[in-house]
Formats: sequence, C-alpha cells, structure tokens
Amino acid sequence: MIVGIPTEIKNNESRVGMTPAGVFELVKNNHTVYVQSGAGEGSGFFDADYQQVGASVLETIQEVYAIAEMIVKVKEPIAEEYDLIKEGQILFTYFHFASSEPLTKAMIKQKAICIAYETVEDEEGTLPLLTPMSEVAGRMAIQQGAKYLEKPVKGRGVLLGGVPGVAPGRVLVLGAGVVGIQAAKMAAGLGAHVTIMDINMKRLRYANDVMPPHVVTEFSNEYNIRKHIKTHDLIIGGVLLKGKKAPNLITRDMLKEMRPGTVIVDVAVDQGGCVETTKPTTHEDPIYIIDDVVHYSVANMPGAVPYTSTVALTNVTLPYAVRLANLGWEKACEKDASLKKGLNIVSGKVVYQEIIEAFSWEE
Ligand code: NAD
Repeated sequence: MIVGIPTEIKNNESRVGMTPAGVFELVKNNHTVYVQSGAGEGSGFFDADYQQVGASVLETIQEVYAIAEMIVKVKEPIAEEYDLIKEGQILFTYFHFASSEPLTKAMIKQKAICIAYETVEDEEGTLPLLTPMSEVAGRMAIQQGAKYLEKPVKGRGVLLGGVPGVAPGRVLVLGAGVVGIQAAKMAAGLGAHVTIMDINMKRLRYANDVMPPHVVTEFSNEYNIRKHIKTHDLIIGGVLLKGKKAPNLITRDMLKEMRPGTVIVDVAVDQGGCVETTKPTTHEDPIYIIDDVVHYSVANMPGAVPYTSTVALTNVTLPYAVRLANLGWEKACEKDASLKKGLNIVSGKVVYQEIIEAFSWEE
C-alpha cells in the first residue's frame, strides 16, 4: 500500500502521524511511504531520518494526498485539506466528529474511509489510542502545577517536594483514571503529599495497591472535596464521565475556601472542566486568576511536548496502521474488532451511531 504522512497544518500542532521507527516497520512490510518535507520537524524528526529508513520525501501536502492510498496523521483534516481527500482513501487519525458537523459533512462528501483513533476500543472497553495522550497530560499536569506554584507567577510559593525540616506540598487529584494515576505518580515522585479521589472503588483500590504510602485514597464526594481544598496547594482535575460534560466538583464559591496562590490544573477542560470557573486556555496564555486561585486549563496539553507525544502516539497506532496496510481496511476491520470500532465514515456513509445521534440525523 502507498502510505502518506502529511505535515499537520492545524494551528500550533507540532506532532506528526508517524515516527521514522513507524516508517521502518511499514517499509519492512513492503509498503511505500511518502512523507511531506518538514512534517516531523516539530517533533524532532528530520527528512533525512525518514529517508534513511526508506521513505520518499515530497515537497507539498497536495502531492502526499494525491499519491497516498492511506493517510496517517494526528489531527482531523482542516478545511484547507478537505478537497485533497480522494474517494476511497483511508484516513487514520483523530477526528472527534461529534464535535464538528462541517468536518463530518466534508468527509461524507469526499467519500473517504475515516478510521478515528478516538473510537478504536479494546475488549475491556478502554480506548487504547487515547490513553497515551492522557498519560502525557497527567504527568505534565504536575510539571505545570509545580511551575505555577512559584511566587513570581502568583502561586503560593510552595516547593512540592519540601526540603528537610519543611513539610512537602500537598496535591489533590480528582479522578483516579489514566490522568489521575499518572499525576499522582509524578507528584509522589517529587515527594509531595498526595490525596487521590474517585467515585469508582475499583480505581481507588488500584491506586491504593500501586501507590507509595504518602499517596492517600479518599472517596470523592462534596464533603471530602470541600475539606481538602482548604489544605492542598495544587489541585488536578482528571475526571471523566464518558461522552458527557465533566461534573462541576469545584464550584465558584469553593475558591474562597482555598488559600491564595492555590493552583488548579483542570485537565478535564476538553469535556468542559470539573471546576465551575474553568475556561479553555492556550499554551501561549495558559493561566488566569480568579479569587487569588491560579487556573491552568490548556485544552491540548500534549501539544507542548510533541516529541514525547508523537512517539507515544505512534507506539500505539502503528500496529493498526501496519494491519490496515497489509490487509486493506475491509479485511483488517473484519479480523480486528477493536479497529472496526474505529470506522466512523465509510464511502460517504456514517457508520458510527454516536455521530448520527450527535447531529440528530435520520439514517
Ligand atoms: P479516565 O476515564 O481514565 O478517568 C476518569 C476518572 O474519573 C474515572 O476513574 C472515573 O471514575 C472518575 N470520576 C468520574 N466522576 C468522578 C467524580 N465525581 N469524582 C471523582 N472521580 C470521578 O479518563 P482520563 O483518560 O484520565 O481523562 C480524564 C480527562 O482528561 C478527560 O476529560 C480527557 O479528555 C482529558 N484529557 C485532557 C487533555 C488535555 O490536553 N487537556 C489530554 C488528555 C486527556
């Protein structure tokens, strides 16, 4: 199969759909790979790195779309790319169709085979192509939180790890899912005292089993949250109710209960946030302050660490990309139920029920 890796042209997106290691695997499986010149640069991979493992480099995005039978990328195509997409071409990328009717209509019109990373689902019901980005965001949340706890950026002036003779900082993690566990692990590694909360006892039991003793689990309810926000320096929002808006676990009035300079990193911002005062921010302007509480709520946190994010993403997408290239999309989806769940739009027809429901269309 001919596989194309275009440069991401969405604003501020430095990741790339495939690393040289991924190209190596495809070439090993007798596929032909075209990479757009400069596509990997934002992630630290250069044209020569791709050429060395057998890819050919094309100058323009038009050339890549024109020649490829399958496009592997990161973000959904943007309007400028719509007309480049050919009938029957496989697009393997994040789409998030339910949040964009224009994108959905465009992909129906182009009659492409749209396989969305975010709906590939394994037997346990987890989303293996989303997990790595939650891992990145969870770990990053502590780095960012530690930074904004510093006084010059209006934080409390607390060092998370403390020093001999001074107690460590206190981190409250809401949600013991992928983001929460990774955040708790990083905070614990720095020596902070960590409280991690969830409503799912299985998750709390897991956290209790795997975390060191200075990570304490507690059931998530309003009473406990109100108690802890008074004494914790950094609060991480990592809750998710699948397919729904995140619940407001911290309401506006609670900010007054916190000490000045407390930092909230609301990772769940992409689902509306679990703090009433959360609004999406960008890497250029990541924080704002309400009632002396620093809010960090960047909607695409992994975008700030494109090297790590690109490699983490390719690690999990590559086996599926190789299967698609080896077998073609129909056979690959027939043989692999997880991949089949990724099929969203096929030759002009929406095949994923939630998308149909999102736009209340009748099929
Ligand atoms: P996950 O499903 O693994 O974990 C969510 C956890 O929240 C679950 O354990 C669930 O039981 C728990 N939860 C639900 N209601 C709760 C409540 N009332 N109190 C406490 N816990 C509760 O999800 P995840 O992969 O960890 O993702 C968390 C959020 O982070 C999602 O909204 C995801 O989209 C978002 N995210 C954001 C970025 C970013 O760049 N901002 C990056 C990756 C993920």
